[in-house]
Amino acid sequence: MKIYFVNTWKTNEKMERVTALANSLMNDEDFLNEIAMVDAFAMSDVAPSRISEFINIFTGQINIKYYKGSIFSSALAYFTPSRPYDININTRKMNRSDGSLVATLVHELIHAVDKFAINASFGHGDNKWTPEKEYTAPYYIDKIAEAFIDKKPIHEGNVNDNIAIPTVNKSTWTWWKPWTWF
Ligand SMILES: [Zn+2]
Repeated sequence: MKIYFVNTWKTNEKMERVTALANSLMNDEDFLNEIAMVDAFAMSDVAPSRISEFINIFTGQINIKYYKGSIFSSALAYFTPSRPYDININTRKMNRSDGSLVATLVHELIHAVDKFAINASFGHGDNKWTPEKEYTAPYYIDKIAEAFIDKKPIHEGNVNDNIAIPTVNKSTWTWWKPWTWF
């Protein structure tokens, strides 16, 4: 099995479990196929099937690190382009499901893969949330990850129906936390 995530700092039982789940998910053919089967991502210039391949051939290892965010911060984690192999998890925001934590790791991994993918771009621009960003590769793939781990539906309906009309029915997004990603 290919290792994508490593706990390099202090850790705990939950993060050990979450890290193992994230690593097996990234090696799961069903997960990679689910990404490849998306018709298109918003704010991306490559096919989802290509992004799935980029993930599969990515050889970097992501170091999971921790920081204690401000009590006013809603960030779950952050990614720094100058340190693409580090994921920084906010220790104030760890009381959530395994799937939600795996989704955070996967989201930041997509940023790292995007940074190293030549002639391809699939980020989400700034951190200001808009409905369209739900369908960018980092957000949508992290949602697939959460759905796989927590065994929840990914989305009702076709993703691309909603890229054209981003103001979709919000009631289908009840477990979406748009303001929390960085
Ligand atoms: Zn992001």
